[in-house]
Amino acid sequence: MLTPDDSALQAVRRRHELRVLESLVTHGNRTRRELETDTNLSRTTLSAIVGELRRRGVLTENDQSFHAAGRNGRPTKVLSLNPKAGAAVGIELGRRRIGISVTGFDGTIVTRERQDISSSMALDAKVKLAAGMVKAMIDDGRINPGTVVGTGVGIASRHANPLSLSDGAERQFDPQGATLAPLREVLPAPLLWDNNIRLAAMAYGKDSDNLLYVVLSAGISSAVVTNGALLRGGNGLAGELGHLSVDFAGPSCWCGRQGCLESFINEGNVLVEAAHRGQSFASIAELAQAAADGNGIAANIVDWAGELLARAIVGACVLLDPSRVVIAGELSQFGEPLLVPVRKALAEQHLDLGPRQTVISTAEFAPSAGSDGAAQTALKHWALATLS
Ligand SMILES: [Zn+2]
Repeated sequence: MLTPDDSALQAVRRRHELRVLESLVTHGNRTRRELETDTNLSRTTLSAIVGELRRRGVLTENDQSFHAAGRNGRPTKVLSLNPKAGAAVGIELGRRRIGISVTGFDGTIVTRERQDISSSMALDAKVKLAAGMVKAMIDDGRINPGTVVGTGVGIASRHANPLSLSDGAERQFDPQGATLAPLREVLPAPLLWDNNIRLAAMAYGKDSDNLLYVVLSAGISSAVVTNGALLRGGNGLAGELGHLSVDFAGPSCWCGRQGCLESFINEGNVLVEAAHRGQSFASIAELAQAAADGNGIAANIVDWAGELLARAIVGACVLLDPSRVVIAGELSQFGEPLLVPVRKALAEQHLDLGPRQTVISTAEFAPSAGSDGAAQTALKHWALATLS
């Protein structure tokens, strides 16, 4: 058991470590003297921190080959981050799967793990299962908790309402009705959590400053990345594109509004609509294939879905002016024919305010997007914060 004093000391050491890591992430490599200046730590403290980080394999110390030798003629030693050390862990507690991704300090994915689950599994059970998967990855050497600077957890839940990450992600409450303690036990580094779709957007948004990411599946979720950061909103509920009304006289949605996009083009209702029009399909994949093969009913359904999607996307684009729109999820299997009505509507709704360009595309189905994005968000939040 840790006493309060022990944990306070650990928190101080963790803050010192992060200062060293931030400097190395910003500058690439640093001499010990430079690190002293960057971090404002005493030589003794810095030496202890560097020693510990080297012992854990986070840092390497090498002769600086391309630089002039030191004043005394000897080559200068520089410290740099070990890109192979797992820097951040991302965990997606999805509706249908648990995914785990580990990134190195350069942001590339080092290893992944995935397990399909029943969609009725409770959040606490998902947390325990994910903790067991992490433990197995620690045991087989794929995760070294000593090199991990942070963990990101993406949660598929309507109750995922995290507090602002900017004021202390380490202190935020756990999601309603569940505890993340089993994950904190196996991964002691600071942990942040958010909606899984938001964190998945970070996997697509890393090279784009302004992105609207839309997932069309059993429900509709979306996320907005603006200037490289996630838009969360004042109550943690930003990005509910599925609950924009596309027909004020439309059916009642479970959310209490009328004619929400989600009540029309969710996976189940698209199949029901096709059956109403005279042909049953077993899955969205089958419907998509039929449309591609020239089946008239299937093609009309794709067009109908595209027209409805266009109404919501145009509204979102007028408000947010994204440079990219990425359509993911089951319905993205409709491909280009789904996007034709959206492109047309965007062109027609062009505002006379100045030139704007929005690139819209479907995402390849990537079951690891949620955990990749969670890992990248955690890395960015704790190790790369100074770069953004
Ligand atoms: Zn709704």
